[in-house]
Amino acid sequence: MDKKVRVRFAPSPTGNIHIGNVRTAVLNWLCARHFGGDFILRIEDTDAERSTADSEQGILDQLTWLGLDWDEGPLKGGKYGPYRQSERTQTYSEHVDKLIAEGKAYRCFCSVEEIESEKSAALDNKENWKYSRKCMTLSDDEKDKFRSDGRGAVVRFKVPEETILLKDLVQGNITFEASTFSDFIIQREDGTSPYNFACVLDDALMCISHVIRGNDHVSNTPKQIMIYRALGYNVPEFAHIPMITGQDGVRLSKRHGHSSVSEFRSEGYLPQALINYLSLLSWSSKTGDEVLTKDRLIGEFDLSRVNKSPAAFDIVKLGWLNGVHYREMDLAEREKISKPYLENAGYDISDENRFSKIIEAAKNNVEKLTDLSEHAAIFFKDELLIEGKEEKELLGRETSQKVFNVVAEKLENIDELTVNVFQSVMKEVQKETGVKGKDLWMPVRVALTGQMHGPELPVVLEIFGKEKCLKLFMNVIT
Ligand code: GLU
Repeated sequence: MDKKVRVRFAPSPTGNIHIGNVRTAVLNWLCARHFGGDFILRIEDTDAERSTADSEQGILDQLTWLGLDWDEGPLKGGKYGPYRQSERTQTYSEHVDKLIAEGKAYRCFCSVEEIESEKSAALDNKENWKYSRKCMTLSDDEKDKFRSDGRGAVVRFKVPEETILLKDLVQGNITFEASTFSDFIIQREDGTSPYNFACVLDDALMCISHVIRGNDHVSNTPKQIMIYRALGYNVPEFAHIPMITGQDGVRLSKRHGHSSVSEFRSEGYLPQALINYLSLLSWSSKTGDEVLTKDRLIGEFDLSRVNKSPAAFDIVKLGWLNGVHYREMDLAEREKISKPYLENAGYDISDENRFSKIIEAAKNNVEKLTDLSEHAAIFFKDELLIEGKEEKELLGRETSQKVFNVVAEKLENIDELTVNVFQSVMKEVQKETGVKGKDLWMPVRVALTGQMHGPELPVVLEIFGKEKCLKLFMNVIT
């Protein structure tokens, strides 16, 4: 890349930050970090009615939690600020005036009713509506008359006759005929500017080199390119990334269950797993590896490897990746992150050594962290209720009962139950009873944990200790 990479994430603070938006943020952030460029956060709050301070705060919190740090933006500042569109009205307005002075935009005094009647006439003629431009040629006197009648005006951009070629880095080349667009509004009656105008000015004045955003914005891009050209600004590179769908192929939304970052966060998904997962939607590493740390993602990021087909969100894969990242964390970090989940379940984790062992024992089965309390439950309950039909049948088998009796007898005679002690006990039990393999181990597992699957058995016994194990064996010996 010959010019400095400056990319931006430009969310509208109108609700909880959606996972689709975060994917856009992730790709922009990776692009900036890969090229040693800048990642700018800009708050697009031109919709004053729907924008809230709470939502903006939520965006900042979630990005911070994800570790997607921005180089310029709210809280940080920067030399191209302010970074909130509501604070940039003056800049937009100066550019609107410039376009009017150059005959590239004009004031339109048409009332809502007049526009509506134009639209319904077009509908009757089965035509697409385009503004009639009847205000484009108003004389100064006519304009003054409207003003003195108290009529407000919007400013419309005079769409030029031209063909627009969008050379999209992901979608390929797309051409648009400008003549199909109506003269669109670049300044509202209250003096503020809508998204398409504000966005161009911000991107131009903030020296954005690449606009990476969802492909739901492709239809806005020709309008934006027209404005760049009219103002004489360089047009940035565009990369419109495919949308995320649910498994049903429909655009991901609340209806699919998970949609906002805060939901994923409270269910115990890790930021590194979310970032890994979101970058794999429509992108893949050259190596084919799927478990990627942030550093590897930064190193391997390549816009040309983003494909254009929509990506289906797969919660099962996210869960798997989350488990992998959880297991790959260093011990101290895993303990720190796990602690609240066990505390919230009401478990006593005051014995730090025991807590550490429990986390290491339970970690293999964890996907989301909210599952942790369930996987760790066996370590905090003295009683075990075994209700499964298969499990009960297994416990009642003659061979199982033989095993329980010999194991219990051996445990009585040992001082301290450790992983090694238990392993040698089981060897002896195998010799004495002649029972081996699954028939030997599975009943012991079920007797102690109530389940056919779970943490490594010797570790479970060590954490339980001799007394608890004996008590549990006594419960199943008939
Ligand atoms: N505020 C727009 C959105 O949230 C940003 C569009 C853009 O990136 O240009 O969709």
